[in-house]
Amino acid sequence: MLQTASYNSDRTTLDSAFDVELRKVFKVFNGETAVRGVELNIAPGEFFSILGPSGCGKTTTLRLIAGFETPSAGEVLIRGKSMTQVPPYRRPANTVFQSYALFDHMKVWDNVAFGLRIKRLSRSEIQQRVDDVLQLVKMESFANRYPKQLSGGQRQRVALARALVNRPAVLLLDEPLGALDLKLRKQMQVELSNLHQDLGLTFVMVTHDQEEALSLSDRIAVMKDGRIEQIGTPNDIYERPQTPFIADFIGDTNLFEGRVESSDATSALIRTHTGLKIVVARSPEENDAVHHAVVSVRPEKIHLHLSPPEAIQNAFPGQLKHVMYLGTHLHCVVQLDSGENLTVRLPNRFSTVPEDRSPVYVSWSPSDCIALAAL
Ligand code: ATP
Repeated sequence: MLQTASYNSDRTTLDSAFDVELRKVFKVFNGETAVRGVELNIAPGEFFSILGPSGCGKTTTLRLIAGFETPSAGEVLIRGKSMTQVPPYRRPANTVFQSYALFDHMKVWDNVAFGLRIKRLSRSEIQQRVDDVLQLVKMESFANRYPKQLSGGQRQRVALARALVNRPAVLLLDEPLGALDLKLRKQMQVELSNLHQDLGLTFVMVTHDQEEALSLSDRIAVMKDGRIEQIGTPNDIYERPQTPFIADFIGDTNLFEGRVESSDATSALIRTHTGLKIVVARSPEENDAVHHAVVSVRPEKIHLHLSPPEAIQNAFPGQLKHVMYLGTHLHCVVQLDSGENLTVRLPNRFSTVPEDRSPVYVSWSPSDCIALAAL
């Protein structure tokens, strides 16, 4: 691996505590608001992901940082400087696109050198930088090939090299692995993560793949309808989702809606409209005045029993409707006697897979319930 210092953009003075700031940014296209008052602070060296369903405004947010779109209101700052008057090619940010956007008629080496030639760097400096960055992405032996003579993963590496050769402060990645098949995607995820660690650059990545965001990011912003619904570490987002949308969007979950029947300092009892009584662990500082709650229980937190369990809380009878064998685990659908269909994920430890339509019991701990409306 090369000396990484040569890839860090020159940070002689620290202008701001943040590499990227979005201050109440809006973007309206023909009367339709794509981004609604987004506020973000991204720290130097962070791997930050913007995650959300199709059309939620994540690509537009990235394009606003890159300068390919101008905010209808609000401000974008990079390293403490307002980017309002700064065109994309002058911003200390480079974008890697899902489509790679390579020049087909240029060899790999020339594709990577292109930006430096535009900047009129000396021939020797261009040579050095391009050789170094191709080595960094392990493409030095492909320098003389044309993009169409490369695999998808190799093209993606060239696209990364082309962005990194400019030594940006911030690398913007727009669904960078979206065009790759699953296996290559996993492999490139590891490479992207290693590259981020080695370079220490700020990465801002747009993805709709929650697993990719959870596995690569220091923090994630989840967007919905042009707004940020939650920002947090992968653990925060998965274990402590703040809204039913986040709980449902990030990983699988089972949601129950009901009335709060009683609560004390450590737990609350929720009764669903089908009559299930669910005990939810709570902390004393949570709000007592809430009468309605949505409870999320992750499929992997649910136990499946073939005979009545000893647990007296959150234990319910039902019928196994469907079992899907997925190698490392079993994906089961259980219909409770009260009517709800639950998704249950079991580690592949069952010596005999229970048959469809078997009578079963499910149980889960009150501490594995996530209360989404404050209790
Ligand atoms: P996807 O995952 O499908 O790419 P996204 O979350 O990245 O979705 P955006 O591309 O940011 O979503 O689009 C957000 C909204 O803004 C969409 O309704 C889209 O149709 C609209 N939009 C985006 N770009 C333009 C444009 N140039 N002109 C008009 N509308 C646009």
